[in-house]
Amino acid sequence: MKKEKSLKQLGAIVDKFTKERGWEHSDPNLLISSILIELGELAEHFQWKNEFETLSETKRKEIGYEFVDVIFYLLRLANKCDIDIEKYFDEKIPKLAKKYPINCNWEKAHDHYRKTGKNKLYEED
Ligand SMILES: [Mg+2]
Repeated sequence: MKKEKSLKQLGAIVDKFTKERGWEHSDPNLLISSILIELGELAEHFQWKNEFETLSETKRKEIGYEFVDVIFYLLRLANKCDIDIEKYFDEKIPKLAKKYPINCNWEKAHDHYRKTGKNKLYEED
C-alpha cells in the first residue's frame, strides 16, 4: 500500500536531497525563477485546452512530474525561509472558508470589499 506523506515529510525529503547535493545555498531569486519556469512547463500541458480531457497514463505521468518540479522548488523556498506550510495551511483554510462561504452572495461580498477595502481573509477573528 502506498504510504501517505505530509508536507512536512516532503519538505524534509527535499531538504535532505538538496543538502546532499550542496544546493542549499541557492538564493531566493533562483528559487522563485525555478518555480515560475516549472510552472510554465506545467502550464504548457494545458495551453490551448478549453476543457479537461481524460489523460493517458503517459501524459498523466508527464504532468505529475511537472507538479513535483513546482512543489520541489516551493518546498525548497519554504524550507529556506523557515515557513511551516502545514501550519499556515491549517490557519488559512478557515479564513478562506470565512471569505468564501458556501452559498455566498458573491456580489454582496465583492461590494463589501469594494466599499470597505477590507479583506475578510486578514481580519482577525
Ligand atoms: Mg519540469
